Amino acid sequence: QRLVIAIDGPSASGKGTLAKRLAAHFGLPHLDTGMLYRAVGWIAAQTGEPPAKVAARLTLADLADPHLRSDEAGQEGSKVAVMPEVRANLLKFQKEFSSQGSGAVLDGRDIGTVICPDAPVKLFVTASPEARAVRRYQELRGRGVDTIKPRVLAEMAERDRRDSERAAAPLRAAPDAWLLDTSEMDADAAFAAALAFIER
Ligand code: C5P
Repeated sequence: QRLVIAIDGPSASGKGTLAKRLAAHFGLPHLDTGMLYRAVGWIAAQTGEPPAKVAARLTLADLADPHLRSDEAGQEGSKVAVMPEVRANLLKFQKEFSSQGSGAVLDGRDIGTVICPDAPVKLFVTASPEARAVRRYQELRGRGVDTIKPRVLAEMAERDRRDSERAAAPLRAAPDAWLLDTSEMDADAAFAAALAFIER
């Protein structure tokens, strides 16, 4: 039987780490869909091409650029993510990814609501803004990025606002999603909780 796991949530909620671990556990391919928006925003900003056009010709190879992990690319990604044409042009890529072989794990903002509304497993991963900012801060410091906690918190709040207030596919839990609050959990605990839910 095919297994599609849809994981949504705000940035630094722990959804990416959880998605990777579930994919490894079930032997399924994983798509971090935030990378699609990051790549579109970043390439469009570099080349001056219309974001919708970049989205239409995006391939997996475009996601390899390490710079896409930066906060700058995250902001560019969230700016193009408000454009309905960009979202529409990335839909086919994500649908194809989710309908291959024995299943897939996708994480993003609209997987359970728009991309895979029929997924048998939907998780909505959250954490308090403070817990998320601390994680993001530690991740950035670990990569040698010089920043301060208030700035990380402010940038996250700005991106959260844009993601949840936009008209096109705003960040929402699907009505049938299971809510997982990771504020008080490390990656191991979040993985154990998600696995228990999936195998219930
Ligand atoms: O998750 P990540 O921080 O990589 O996502 C970058 C941006 O891409 C988000 O701020 C959001 O605006 C957008 N995004 C989206 N839908 C998704 C995944 C990401 O709109 N499924």
